[in-house]
Amino acid sequence: MTVHDAAAREFPPFSTDLCIKCNVCTTVCPVARVTDEFPGPKYVGPQAQRFRAPGVGPDAPDRSVDLCSGCGICTRACPAGVLIAETNNRARAAIVDERGSSLRNRIISDTDLIARFGVPLAPLANIGLKNRMARWMGEKVLGVHRRGPLTTFARRTFDSWWKRRGGATTLPATADPERTVVYFHGCAVNAFEPDLGRDAVEILERNGFSVIVPRQQCCGLPFISNGLYEQARTKARRNLSSLAEFARAGYRIVGTSTSCTHALKAEYREMLDISDADAAAVADATWDICELLLDLHDRGELDVGFAPIDEPLPYHPPCQLKSHGIGTPAMDLFALVPGLRAVDSDHDCCGAAGTYGLKVERWQIAQDVGAPLFAAVRASGAARAACDSETCRWQIEQSSGVPTVHPITILAESYRRADAAREESWRRIV
Ligand code: SF4
Ligand code: SF4
Repeated sequence: MTVHDAAAREFPPFSTDLCIKCNVCTTVCPVARVTDEFPGPKYVGPQAQRFRAPGVGPDAPDRSVDLCSGCGICTRACPAGVLIAETNNRARAAIVDERGSSLRNRIISDTDLIARFGVPLAPLANIGLKNRMARWMGEKVLGVHRRGPLTTFARRTFDSWWKRRGGATTLPATADPERTVVYFHGCAVNAFEPDLGRDAVEILERNGFSVIVPRQQCCGLPFISNGLYEQARTKARRNLSSLAEFARAGYRIVGTSTSCTHALKAEYREMLDISDADAAAVADATWDICELLLDLHDRGELDVGFAPIDEPLPYHPPCQLKSHGIGTPAMDLFALVPGLRAVDSDHDCCGAAGTYGLKVERWQIAQDVGAPLFAAVRASGAARAACDSETCRWQIEQSSGVPTVHPITILAESYRRADAAREESWRRIV
């Protein structure tokens, strides 16, 4: 049984009656730790849930549940198995259903729409994203904090690169599901970080996989965390209709964002109540890319010809990765790179939590949550840090001042150095 198999699970029912009132969740909650405004997971989760009966109103006893960032730390810590973060998300969705959502939340959740306008206008849009006056206007008009972690648009999407490359997008007539994987790039790679997608493809192909990139959309997680479940379900349904045939045919679905892969593995069924065969097949077939590479290594099939990278590397495993229950596969892979001194940050949360850290009314909380991590990254003296989730990377980079990359970027660089060294020695021989 692989770590992936062990992490696959059926979801327990949403029974908040299991709560034994131990308060463990409140002691580990990073938001409750930094603000008295938030009474903590026990209060807004199992305790408040009793008042959320039909007719009482979804936001009873108060709306403080909206301060929950959805990091999931409480759920992982609860000894009674109460799905606290998930209960909070549902309570938020019920409030949105009844009261509606702000224009700001609807816009920042719709990453595909943002990309549709942002990528073609990248040079101009990127000036706006870096311009102080434009950011100030964005804060005043829309409520997106002027110092919230935002990245810049790519000039070309990953999808357009893939099409120009002639890459496969559909189920091949003949292929070996063992050596062919489906890449779920998500909206961040597509519109903001296509280089990461290209590195992922390069590493997968180097290790003997053919790659298919089918039609796909944002995983829908930003909609889930803003309580916009109908929009999230639309995204989920579209992705499932595209991915399920691959999953049923035995292909693995691989992602470079631990947030997207967690949505495919768990949130579609858990949060959106999509309990059909397509959702189950996709959940079982989905792997985080570091999880897949480590599994390959465990089977003795990973190319371990990594060239040295002699540097310290603070690594932050994001909350979403911890929710996968697969450990920290990136740390095991870093150990294969000679000279790389990767150190687990040992901090719980960067504070970003997707779109949470962008909001003008949440920005300070997000900064306070992430402050110990930012200080540790700065104090490491490292030239760069690593993290598997995009919004966490942007938050760490912006708030610590240290460039932050995906683990795959480091591994791809090490492989390229090995290739360059091999070419150089051949050149000398010839
Ligand atoms: S950790 Fe679990 S059991 Fe303990 S108070 Fe929180 S929800 Fe209840
Ligand atoms: S999900 Fe995170 S922020 Fe929300 S209550 Fe749980 S620990 Fe606190």
